[in-house]
Amino acid sequence: MGILKGKKGLVLGLANDKSIAWGVAQACQREGAELGLNYLGEPLEKRVRPLAEKVGATLVESLDVSDDAQIDAFFAKVQEKWGSLDFLVHSIAFANKDALRNPFSQTTREDFRLALDISAYSFIACAQRAAPLMTAGGSIVTMTYLGAERAVPGYNVMGVAKAALEASTRYLAQDLGQHGIRVNAISAGPIRTLAASAVGDFRKLMEKSARGSMLGRNVSQDEVGNTTAYLLSDMSSGVSGEVHYVDAGFHVGAGDPGLEG
Ligand code: NAD
Repeated sequence: MGILKGKKGLVLGLANDKSIAWGVAQACQREGAELGLNYLGEPLEKRVRPLAEKVGATLVESLDVSDDAQIDAFFAKVQEKWGSLDFLVHSIAFANKDALRNPFSQTTREDFRLALDISAYSFIACAQRAAPLMTAGGSIVTMTYLGAERAVPGYNVMGVAKAALEASTRYLAQDLGQHGIRVNAISAGPIRTLAASAVGDFRKLMEKSARGSMLGRNVSQDEVGNTTAYLLSDMSSGVSGEVHYVDAGFHVGAGDPGLEG
């Protein structure tokens, strides 16, 4: 008997088998959920389809979250196929590579707009379409990082986007709580993924973070997946509006001599 048995939910942000969304999708399937997934355009479709088959996803559609019309069309398909929804996982972020390599003070207006649009606003845009489908209440989870609260070298404008994402989590939780919908964020330590490869000095960040973590090691996609499954399940029925850490490497940041230290 899995903790998500009988629940239907979306996991958005699967690119390949290194994605955090893959750890999430596997944990949700293991716990008995029926899954819907998206892929970002044709180039990713051929990677996502075989993974979708492995977790028995019954809905797999293209979705670029920078386009409201695509978000509308995607959720219309969810409504048509399922009629209702129990959970939504948002595991999506994007920033221009240069914005993560250049000094933060050089951030352009377009770098800022793009990072905040795709990495933070898209969470609100998806939640506002998912909520009306959560007729029996629901759970919504997004993925954030310590760079929201601390100046982590190389994280730059993505840290600003994550700060907006965490604030959005609290406001969505406040707004949607009256409908029995919970909203939470997970702040995991660094994991080697496609998105992470854009962050400057990621290898050093991983080493430093492992040393600064409570467990003395980095965490895995599967561990984030398990925490997500708990937050999506009725086991966490009293938990909303919070950032939950999956050993985020707390000692990186304030008072730290930097990645060389
Ligand atoms: P990933 O590259 O596997 O996933 C990022 C996903 O975002 C991809 O599937 C990509 O297709 C999707 N995406 C980007 N732009 C999009 C758009 N316009 N429309 C739809 N999808 C779009 O990398 P990941 O590390 O698994 O990232 C997932 C989430 O976890 C992100 O929010 C990331 O910031 C967060 N996170 C990652 C780490 C880490 O160290 N990897 C740590 C904490 C939080």
